[in-house]
Amino acid sequence: MKPLGLFPATHTAALVRIAAVRPADYARSRNAIDGAVTQLSPYITHGFVSLPEVLAGVAARHRLDVQHKFVFELGWREYFRHVWQHRGDEILHSLHDGLLPDHGYATELPADIRQARTGVPAIDMTVRTLYATGTLHNHARMWLASYVVHLRKVHWRVGADWLVAHLLDGDLASNHLSWQWVAGTGSSKPYLFNAENVARYAPPAWHSTGTVIDCSYETLDAMARSERPVRAASLGEGVEEPALWKVPRGVITAPPQAAEVAGRDVWLVHPWALGEPHADQPEGCVRVGLWPAEHHAARPWSGARWAFVGERMASLTSVRWHANRDSLTQALAGAHSVQTLANPHVSGLLPHCVEQHAPMHLFADVGHSCYSFSTWWNRTMRGVKSLGDLPGLTALGARGATGPAHGAVTATSVSPTPP
Ligand SMILES: Cc1cc2nc3c(=O)[nH]c(=O)nc-3n(C[C@H](O)[C@H](O)[C@H](O)COP(=O)(O)OP(=O)(O)OC[C@H]3O[C@@H](n4cnc5c(N)ncnc54)[C@H](O)[C@@H]3O)c2cc1C
Repeated sequence: MKPLGLFPATHTAALVRIAAVRPADYARSRNAIDGAVTQLSPYITHGFVSLPEVLAGVAARHRLDVQHKFVFELGWREYFRHVWQHRGDEILHSLHDGLLPDHGYATELPADIRQARTGVPAIDMTVRTLYATGTLHNHARMWLASYVVHLRKVHWRVGADWLVAHLLDGDLASNHLSWQWVAGTGSSKPYLFNAENVARYAPPAWHSTGTVIDCSYETLDAMARSERPVRAASLGEGVEEPALWKVPRGVITAPPQAAEVAGRDVWLVHPWALGEPHADQPEGCVRVGLWPAEHHAARPWSGARWAFVGERMASLTSVRWHANRDSLTQALAGAHSVQTLANPHVSGLLPHCVEQHAPMHLFADVGHSCYSFSTWWNRTMRGVKSLGDLPGLTALGARGATGPAHGAVTATSVSPTPP
């Protein structure tokens, strides 16, 4: 399988997308399905580019203040990482009670949802788009999650596990915590939507007049609190769900070979660290691609994602290993040094001998765990008057990377708004 044409697996493609960001249009149209969103998420998730690199690239071309909508949305990504850092695997379980007890929700995703034949155009278009492109607009993700949890009574975790597998940008923090935000197990109230909302933000093919969501918010709220799932209209034949793979698919890998790294300095290139080689990497090091077997066994990927990540990894490495922790430990025992970039998807699976460098964060570490985005945002923006005050841009500047960040507007407090 080839990577989906929308997302060439190159660093240049990520830079082209950064250069194309139009912050004013973004702020105005971000909620519309055909709005001026960046489609940078597959590149960000897999580390082709970091958040500081994204913001520096945009700020080099446009005047942005620190409370600009675009900066704020980058904040959501880092906030979800903050929650993962502090709560660990707890994010995979309901953080608090939702509308119904956990056992009130089904543990399987119905076939009509998987096959895009629910009879609700907004949902069926979302699923078709997901399979065709490997990504989704934020609003479509919210509609899908809300329909699955609140109307069909499927547990948010079931929907989250399924969606994250099909996305090119699948990220455990952003995905699972967003599902919890929609479900109301990670936020103060559930997210509900109706046909009027769809008509406002989506093109006509998505409009869902006359379907189960064509009702008032009071009715939706009552349906969400009821234990009874709504029935699907199950129209037409639908589409076939793409297969998911737990082992490398269409990419060349080999078991770890100690001889390939004996006495050498090694830089591990894992699927979440696909940036350009940089100064931290020892001169003359051998770059080894790593597919962490335990992660992939637990979290299958679509063929399109294997192709996207595999093509980029092949361009960065001379050898690629599909390895579990034990076989990696043995193979690396004779290496002179082993380093990589830390990432929570893989860090716990790496042997002790691997020195993990902290990735660059855009925003300041707030120290202790924050239970809401607005608390985190107000803390991390304390004393930040212009983009140049953001630690990620300072660090990037110190490395001599992309140009000056400008703008000077006082950081003010924010109230919670939908992600
Ligand atoms: C149910 C659900 C599941 C989601 N799953 C994922 C996921 O697996 N991976 C993922 O990266 N994002 C996820 N998101 C967040 C968001 O929908 C995507 O980041 C965004 O749609 C990606 O498109 P874009 O790059 O065009 O975003 P833009 O709107 O152009 O934003 C630029 C970047 O800011 C960050 N960002 C923007 N909005 C959000 C947000 N609400 N939450 C977190 N980060 C944000 C992303 O890194 C994004 O690439 C999910 C949201 C929901 C509601």
